[in-house]
This record gives sequence, structure tokens and C-alpha cells, in this order.
Amino acid sequence: MTTSTAPVTAQSLFEKLKHVQTDNPLCQYTYAKCERLTPVINEILRLKKEKNAVILAHSYVHPDIIYTVADHTGDSYGLASIARQTDADTIVFPAVRFMAETAKILNPDKTVIDPNPNGGCSLADSITAETVHKLREQYPDHTFVCYINTTAAVKAACDVCVTSSNVYRIIESLPNEKIYFLPDRLMGQNIQDYLRRKQSNKELLYYSGSCYVHEEFDSEMIDQVRKSYPGLTVLAHPECKPDVVKKADYVCSTTGMIDHVQRQGTGNRPFLLLTECGIATRLQVENPEVRLVGSCMMCRYMKSNHLEAIAQALKAPAPSQIITIDESIQAAAKRCLDTMF
Ligand code: SF4
Repeated sequence: MTTSTAPVTAQSLFEKLKHVQTDNPLCQYTYAKCERLTPVINEILRLKKEKNAVILAHSYVHPDIIYTVADHTGDSYGLASIARQTDADTIVFPAVRFMAETAKILNPDKTVIDPNPNGGCSLADSITAETVHKLREQYPDHTFVCYINTTAAVKAACDVCVTSSNVYRIIESLPNEKIYFLPDRLMGQNIQDYLRRKQSNKELLYYSGSCYVHEEFDSEMIDQVRKSYPGLTVLAHPECKPDVVKKADYVCSTTGMIDHVQRQGTGNRPFLLLTECGIATRLQVENPEVRLVGSCMMCRYMKSNHLEAIAQALKAPAPSQIITIDESIQAAAKRCLDTMF
């Protein structure tokens, strides 16, 4: 999805964002709020042109970023693929730190800007490269597979990277039967279940990290929502707990969820999306006729991206907003990502 560079008006913004309905005031748009946001949006559109910059926004950031200044919106895999192909001089990445780092690993000669350098991510921050080196000493015969939600240094210490779009496919295709997956414990358990169902001989160990957003969903809540909404379709992200994943009708990445609901979402059929709220708000804007039920969870790291910081970072980025990666880490992390691609 890309946005146009034509100036935005408060009215055009409100027409898009009025469909966003969450119980969090941070994600509600009145006409007055749209009026307030319009000047900074138009400033960003002007700066983007002037600097030949592209803005890649994760689907979990605020809709006012996604539907105004972002050139592309998607999941980690989709945005990393776009980052590989862009001919812009500067990449601005409103998301979390590891995603901007991934763009830099793939584009060492471009300027990559993280407008929210203190963003963090509970999953990426759960493991360091030093821990991976120790684990490799402990398990020298294992292939080390890292989720894309890891720092550049952790990627550099691993053999191959995966995302929620390709994790099962890549793990199945690895020649080694011994695999160490990190950092997500819940995703590791889901992969183990998958391999068991497939009667695979692979032995998979996993690390103890987790995403605090996806960890919150529980299977009893699914039962309750199913009772209230007959015909409910439940879509779960593979970062959810195994008992949640088992009760879901489909397990897919965030892009997979959007595609599924867009294909099936007519006729008043209810959907429950077990992932961050950004996917529900994207569907509310892009497909207002779709019926979404239940509540969703917000990621405080993703939601700490704001238009004002994007404008400031485009104008005069602070050193902490410019991604730099040590040369020794750069080459090894690129190899880990290239193996995935
Ligand atoms: S949703 Fe979870 S994995 Fe994604 S950025 Fe937030 S904390 Fe990290």
C-alpha cells in the first residue's frame, strides 16, 4: 500500500480515519484532531520529496501515520522485502528498532532513520548476542534460527532468519534435524506442535523470550467470544500461546490475516483477530463493511511512534535516530537475512 504525495486536508483525513473504532482514545479520530494533524502531515510530505525519502510503516503504528505519510505499510517480512528494493536515499522506519536495523543491514549505503529510537520491543530485547554465543557453545550441532524480531547483533550470531510468514516453511526445509529457535518461547512451542503433527524427525529447542502483546490472549476468552458470536472465525498470530493457536481457525502472519478477512469478510460474518490492534484498525479503514468482534491489544512500543518525531527526524535527525551497524555485525547479519530471502 502506498500513499500519494498530494497535500492532505483535514476533511480527507477525517473521511478515512472516522472508521477507526477502538476503546482507546489514542486511536480515535475526530474532525478537530484531523485538523490538528494536517500541518505536520503536509510538512512530512514536503520533506520526503525534498530528501528523496521513503517511509516504511509497520501495520501496528497509528493509522494517522499509515494513511497519510507512509509509502508502504506491512509486516516485518513485507517491509524488509521493500527495503531491499527501494531507490530512495533515505529510509524512515516508524516501527521498532530491530526493523530499522534490518533495513540498514539490507541497505548499508543508505541513511536509515528510526524516528523513535527508544521504542524497544519486549521480544527483541529478551536476548543478546552474548547469550546466543553461549548457547552455540552449549549446542554446537544445532542450526540457529532467529525470528526477525531480533537485534542486528543477534542476527549476526545466527544461521538463518525467519518471519511469521515463512517460519514453518523455512524450518521444514533446513537440512539439519537439530534446530535452536530464538527468541520467542511461544512461537517455539507452536513450531514444535507443527513438527509433531507433520511427524517430522526434527528436534527443536527454543529460547524463553515472548511478546507481551500476544502473550495476553487466552483460550477461555476465545470460548466466550464464540458463545456470543455464532459463526465466528478466529485468526491467531503464531506468537500467541499454543492453547490459543489450537483453538484458532487459522494461524497466520498479520498480512495473512488481512488477506484472509478481505477474501472472506462479506455477509456479516464475525472475525476475532488475535494480534495487535493495528490490524483491526487497518481493516476498519480499508474494509469498513467487515465485522470485527472482541477486543484487541495495543503494543506500547509501536504506538509510541508519532508524526511530530517523523517530521523532526526528516528535518534534522539526532545521532540516536540514525541507524549505524558495526561492520563486523553488518556482513554476518546480512548473510542471516539473505539465507531467508
Ligand atoms: S507487538 Fe510484540 S513483538 Fe511486536 S513490537 Fe510489540 S512487543 Fe515487539
